[in-house]
Amino acid sequence: MLTPILNELQLKLKIVATGPMLIRDGRMSSDEQRKKLVPNETVRQNLPDSIFVCRNTYADLKDKLNKNDINKLKFYLPRTSLRGLLRQQAESIMRMLSSDQEDPLCCNPFDETNCAERIEKALLRLHDRQNRRNRLSAVEIFNASCAICRLFGSTAMASRIEVDDGVPQGMFAYDERVHVAIDRFTGGSVPGALFKDFVLSGAFETEIRIRNFEIWQLGLLAYVLRDLENGDVPVGSGKNKGYGQATIVLENITLKYRGKHQPNQLLGMADFPEISARRYDFKKHELTQYPIESQVGNGLLSQEYVIQATPTSVIESRFWQVCAGVFNGIVRNAAGADSQRFQKLSELCISDGTIVAQQTENEEQP
Ligand SMILES: [Zn+2]
Repeated sequence: MLTPILNELQLKLKIVATGPMLIRDGRMSSDEQRKKLVPNETVRQNLPDSIFVCRNTYADLKDKLNKNDINKLKFYLPRTSLRGLLRQQAESIMRMLSSDQEDPLCCNPFDETNCAERIEKALLRLHDRQNRRNRLSAVEIFNASCAICRLFGSTAMASRIEVDDGVPQGMFAYDERVHVAIDRFTGGSVPGALFKDFVLSGAFETEIRIRNFEIWQLGLLAYVLRDLENGDVPVGSGKNKGYGQATIVLENITLKYRGKHQPNQLLGMADFPEISARRYDFKKHELTQYPIESQVGNGLLSQEYVIQATPTSVIESRFWQVCAGVFNGIVRNAAGADSQRFQKLSELCISDGTIVAQQTENEEQP
């Protein structure tokens, strides 16, 4: 991770479950675990087979389950689930844009093509050849990483994006859903076997922070947020049971820069000379419009702006349109990008409008 933090975007948003949602509590996933939590068989049989994940300690969870006080548990939406969701959707957008499915525009974090492993192999080759340096620099790792790892990080590189746990807002609807258990071997139902899920519907509030960002990364995020807003991204498990339908409400967005700059600018990493001089592969863009509503702070060390003060749809937001335009510019110029598929994405999406987004190589590049 680059230090210090030069720019930061904060998004406050609500994730709204429009139907039953279930993110399972892993402490209750096997029969054995359930028996340990609730030794009394009669009590246990009346409990759901799975419950929504909660913050309660093991002892507290045990106590509430034995008193059948499930409604009093402290449910939340784990940050790891939210982050995973954002990353997966970003990956599927990049794969959709790739003309060569054998060589997609992003790595697969679950196989040997993942950036960290690929970079590690390159390092071994370098080491064999030169045998004088056994470590890649942060700049080398960054420049060798794919678009997704540059934003979400990998085992070789820290993430630029940070997500808070989702905190329940207001009233929740609790529900127990009963399902017939299916025999995995025959595909038929198991006589007498029923599954009960304890599901929630309601809203969770969270915050996403992106630090040391490039403007195209915000553009990729704009598409991810649009898909979430459209309800195209299910949250949690049980999609085949119809769980996880959700949307988002973007409540407000603020932007911070370190140091003093021209007012009302959207500055990506390439716009900070102290860092672009270090040969990072940052993309520079010339923006003709700056989508910033107002300046709220102008201290000696930082400037702070409000981009959006009230809930605004992603599609209608000038800010996300500008960022998406920059991402479009990058994809259009990327080797391996499919222009027809890109057209498809463009049609669906936020229009470029009057934005001039040019991808120019950083002048400091070797
Ligand atoms: Zn990668």
